[in-house]
Amino acid sequence: MTSRRDFLTGAGAAVAASQIASPIKAYGSNKKFRWKMSTTWSPKLPILQESCELFADRVNDASGGRLKIKVFAGGELIPPLTVFDAVSQGTLQMGAGAAYYWAGKAPAAQFFGSVPFGMNPQQFNAWLADGGLTLWEKVYSQFGVRPMAFGNSGIQMGGWFKREIKTLEDVKGLKMRIPGLGGKVMAKAGANVVLMAGSEVYTALERGTIDATEWVGPFHDERLGLYRAAKFYYYPGWHEPGANLELIINETAWQSLPADLQAIVRLAARDVAAWVLERCEVENGPALKRLTTEHKVELKRFPDSFLKRMRELTKEVIAELTASDPLAKEVYSSYSTFQQQIRRWAEISEQAYAESP
Ligand code: CA
Repeated sequence: MTSRRDFLTGAGAAVAASQIASPIKAYGSNKKFRWKMSTTWSPKLPILQESCELFADRVNDASGGRLKIKVFAGGELIPPLTVFDAVSQGTLQMGAGAAYYWAGKAPAAQFFGSVPFGMNPQQFNAWLADGGLTLWEKVYSQFGVRPMAFGNSGIQMGGWFKREIKTLEDVKGLKMRIPGLGGKVMAKAGANVVLMAGSEVYTALERGTIDATEWVGPFHDERLGLYRAAKFYYYPGWHEPGANLELIINETAWQSLPADLQAIVRLAARDVAAWVLERCEVENGPALKRLTTEHKVELKRFPDSFLKRMRELTKEVIAELTASDPLAKEVYSSYSTFQQQIRRWAEISEQAYAESP
């Protein structure tokens, strides 16, 4: 074994000097990579689409231009919901979106997007660091895709309703746009759940094609103009206590990157993930104030009876999902074990602090 002293003199010194003279060469590659990324977001979706551009800039700067990523919004290159397939097949090296879009391919994917009454961003990220990411990689590896966390909206709002929700009867027959597991729960409660792209939501609500919709939080909802189409703005976002976003990478393309570029991608993804949550926090407070003061929106809390019922129905929806898919069962077992482990801690820390007089 080479001692530290030997390393600083003799043969070791020559190696060290060559690394200083040519740090890139030390990784065995000067090769330039030109990649494409498509997102599932509309071109003007603030924060989410912006974060992908920011990511490409960060990677370009940190790699000295060795890895350049050209970013396309949903629909510019390919339709938004074909991004996963394109990355899986290697047509594109990278994509960005949310895991629940791929529920039809892998039911287990939904636990890496939004889980009703699930974990908040800080808890979810802790789970990823404690085994969740390994499971996520396992779910996507069937498709030759590698996932990374890519930001979080924070807890969302419950949505926009044309009529008040006073009892569970008001949910029956309600035409609502609400995707993912939350949509399945609302359907069980008797709502008529409608699936539609974000670009159609405002018009549908304004024209009365739907009676209610959820979107994101005050900032994104204000941008979409939803306050002009419905008066009642409900909280809390029981269906999305944190919507995790994802970066997806074609596995073969990933393996073709030298170790330093892989490290740059990982670090830039973490940096951008933090930026997304920060921006949402920065923007939501002022946006909520504008909605309630300038736009005269009526802020409403869902009745306890509604939230209690949604929690019960969530258990049923998840029980059905995990019974039908072994991988979903494995992932949810890890997710729920982690959530239970930290519940007491959350109660006496964040919750107690929020409720203190
Ligand atoms: Ca949402």
